[in-house]
Amino acid sequence: MQGHAASRATADLGLLARDTDGVLQMYVDGRFVPAADGQVRAVYNPATGEAVARVAEGGPEDARRAVRAARRAFDEGRWSGAAAYDRAALLLRLADLMERDADRLTRLETLNNGKPLREAELDVADAVRCFRYYAGVCMQPHGQVLTVPGPTETYTVREPVGVCGQIIPWNFPLLMAAWKLAPALAAGNTCVLKPSELTPVTALRLAQLMDEAGFPAGVVNIVLGPGDTVGQTLTESAEVDLIAFTGGTATGRRVMQAASVNVKKLSLELGGKSPNIVFADADFETAVDHALLGIFFGAGQVCAAGSRLLVQSPLYDRFVPELVERAKRIRIGDGFDPDTEMGPLISEAHRGRVEAYVDAGRAEGAVLAYGGERPGSPARGYFLQPTVMLDVRSEMRVVREEIFGPVLVVQRFDDEEEAIGMANDSPYGLAAGVFTQDVARAHRVARRLRAGIVWVNTYHPAYVEAPWGGYKQSGIGRELGTHGFEEYTEVKQVNIQLDVQPSGFYRR
Ligand code: NAD
Repeated sequence: MQGHAASRATADLGLLARDTDGVLQMYVDGRFVPAADGQVRAVYNPATGEAVARVAEGGPEDARRAVRAARRAFDEGRWSGAAAYDRAALLLRLADLMERDADRLTRLETLNNGKPLREAELDVADAVRCFRYYAGVCMQPHGQVLTVPGPTETYTVREPVGVCGQIIPWNFPLLMAAWKLAPALAAGNTCVLKPSELTPVTALRLAQLMDEAGFPAGVVNIVLGPGDTVGQTLTESAEVDLIAFTGGTATGRRVMQAASVNVKKLSLELGGKSPNIVFADADFETAVDHALLGIFFGAGQVCAAGSRLLVQSPLYDRFVPELVERAKRIRIGDGFDPDTEMGPLISEAHRGRVEAYVDAGRAEGAVLAYGGERPGSPARGYFLQPTVMLDVRSEMRVVREEIFGPVLVVQRFDDEEEAIGMANDSPYGLAAGVFTQDVARAHRVARRLRAGIVWVNTYHPAYVEAPWGGYKQSGIGRELGTHGFEEYTEVKQVNIQLDVQPSGFYRR
């Protein structure tokens, strides 16, 4: 079964546009092209460490070409000038093609990112929903008529910002592409999307499906390559009007600086260190289950991961041993194995970073309740055990910094006030979880948490209808929902004098 799915994924790769040497091509101005200077990069399957494909490795010139194509497409009005209905029709057509291709996209995601097939399936379904949702949003009215003093008709219109540079990470390669492209295209922008250099494969399949759907040339360009060359060129380019970035907070700072060149519009979806608060009155099974899901889904490589668990004292001694026992039982393995519950980390280098955090936590006095080791099986790949650290203090690095791996730190609290204080004691503010059966407490705590997303008695669901983004250093702006659409628009006021006459302000 596992081997079968994996070999089908290898066959799926054969569909992607490639040159005569088998190097996968990027998508610029409606054509699949090699890198301008012919550079090539290998991409890997993190579950085996094996190279699965070679892709064109773009550089600054490729980024500039893609920006020129997007600029032309925008300025000629090939897309922004199209009726919203026609844009929606293409987004729906794309969603249909993605659905037709869902199994293939799922396998390709597992092959390149390592996540279990069942996680990749969710991503593909959510990506399809995202394009359908924004097809609907795009056809809604977006202006307002305002009542102002005087005989003036005043109204607002929303217009596309222009050329959008979109930079995404490796943890949800297809879904992040959908979160960026769908609202931007719905609003009439043209796009240059840069996937992570580690996980370009599903974005290349998406480019083929967009081509098949019939998007005009230059409206969507997928340019591959490293962040510090291709990403930097996009963020600095005076021809780019908006940068939408998802990635680490340190990179976000650099992006913000580079984007200041022409005062670009900017949205930043950055890191997190999200608290998950379990009160003593919580439904025990639900809270344990969601605490596990909060940190071990995606092997903890999720921006909103519930990586700080806060447990109320009366429950602590029952809750934590159960959590640790359940963490031990999580089945680690190749994402193509249907029994796998947690896949590998994205790379050897990243696993090294996560292990260094575990070492740092121990050196600072944290107690390793479980994990921190590479499992004996699978023998290859970048796996790490689910890890739980106890007796942590709020000043420790493992509590303050985003680890982005399967490492949970657990703290104890006595009352609601203390829990809120601990939860908010972080430079981040992306998400938070609250487990309680007291409805008034749920609302009270949700209000006081300094986070863009609060889940009560659940963890992790993300709905395309609802805004996604963080407080504090977790970012600027919101994706998804109508907020996400508005990020990709300029709002214009139009004032029409109804009683046409001179102002009389100056003598005639
Ligand atoms: P990263 O910041 O290293 O890279 C993200 C992207 O930025 C990649 O495509 C990379 O090539 C590019 N990049 C790197 N340097 C750049 C530069 N100087 N200029 C422009 N682009 C540059 O992040 P990562 O390791 O790929 O992803 C993990 C991070 O992403 C985590 O911190 C995680 O929390 C964050 N993330 C946030 C969200 C969210 O919605 N808030 C979602 C997913 C991931």
